[in-house]
Amino acid sequence: MKIHEYQAKEILRRFGVATPRGEPCFSVEEAVRAAERLGGSRWVVKAQIHAGGRGKGGGVKLARSRDEVRTLAGQILGMQLRTHQTGPEGRKVRRLLIEEGADIVSELYVGMVVDRGTQKVALMASSEGGMDIEEVAARTPEKIHKVFVDPQAGLTGAEADEVARRIGVPEGSVPQARGVLQGLYRAFWESDASLAEINPLVLTAEGRVVALDAKMNFDDNALFRHADIVAMRDLDEEDPAEIEASQFDLSYISLDGNIGCLVNGAGLAMATMDTIKLYGAEPANFLDVGGGATTEKVTEAFKIMLRNARVKGILVNIFGGIMRCDTIAEGVVAAAREVKLHVPLVVRMKGTNENIGRKILADSGLPIISADNMGEAAQKIVAAVSGQ
Ligand code: ADP
Ligand code: MG
Repeated sequence: MKIHEYQAKEILRRFGVATPRGEPCFSVEEAVRAAERLGGSRWVVKAQIHAGGRGKGGGVKLARSRDEVRTLAGQILGMQLRTHQTGPEGRKVRRLLIEEGADIVSELYVGMVVDRGTQKVALMASSEGGMDIEEVAARTPEKIHKVFVDPQAGLTGAEADEVARRIGVPEGSVPQARGVLQGLYRAFWESDASLAEINPLVLTAEGRVVALDAKMNFDDNALFRHADIVAMRDLDEEDPAEIEASQFDLSYISLDGNIGCLVNGAGLAMATMDTIKLYGAEPANFLDVGGGATTEKVTEAFKIMLRNARVKGILVNIFGGIMRCDTIAEGVVAAAREVKLHVPLVVRMKGTNENIGRKILADSGLPIISADNMGEAAQKIVAAVSGQ
């Protein structure tokens, strides 16, 4: 699950990380009042969307008067903000963060992720803040410093100090940077985050170390123990198909291709997507209906897939173990009838009650193309789609 910048800053402040003072706003009037309450003479008007690169896309602007706050808030609220992370269609801005403008001397980068290889939290830090860290990693990898944190000890003061010095924090600000790094680590650890990033972490003219941006993602499997974080969920920022799928306990992720796939088991779903690609097409989604799906669940899965206008064909690939092939077949037939299926459908089923399943499909009178193995299934759906 993702949250907004202002929410991530709220969490980080609880762990002692300094951020500019700021307020989230939903209207131009609120933005102006927030600027008045904050006081000072420089404010930053920031679009709140679940994507980075907002500055370059025109979603982060400096205002030098309250009138400017009003003008900029009016421009940014409601705009379709396009960044390298939103895709060409962009994302509609519905919330703003109005915060005090910081006096920046230099921009640094600090981030944390779970490193699967070492099974530890990896801290990454760089003197090259404010820009795309992927670009820094590609061009000047020597400028990224890493620490793999021992889960028993946590991020030690000595480790934090060394990283701070390596990324150019001046000696007088090292203790503050230590507080930020250790606070970030504790925030990450205690909230079951999968990613936490401050880009940029800045040094100010007064020698302070301040988080100007913040991003946190959380492990969905741990959300049951973080009601406060779940309350931060913004459904406007999520794919409606994915939200609906999660309500039916289906693992669904939208992709860019045109072949919908309905599969049981995450591994088989990945293999099915690979096979579609092998035969020259692209999957429109990842969809795992799980091991114990009912006819109703399969029907819902079908409806969700078909709501995607890009879908030009569907491939159902089922291994009947716990999940019986006849259940899937009934779901497929019910769904195809209910949604008045208008695209080619290839079904490959193996395992428990395979013959009963096949008979249900054949007796349905629907134009279902059946296949005996995965390669054949993928070839058939790719051919059917490209023949349209
Ligand atoms: P994004 O990463 O989505 O572009 P950021 O929050 O990092 O958004 O903002 C982009 C840039 O805007 C920052 O690198 C920083 O230079 C500037 N900026 C952001 N917040 C402030 C602030 N409170 N005061 C001064 N400059 C800011
Ligand atoms: Mg940023």
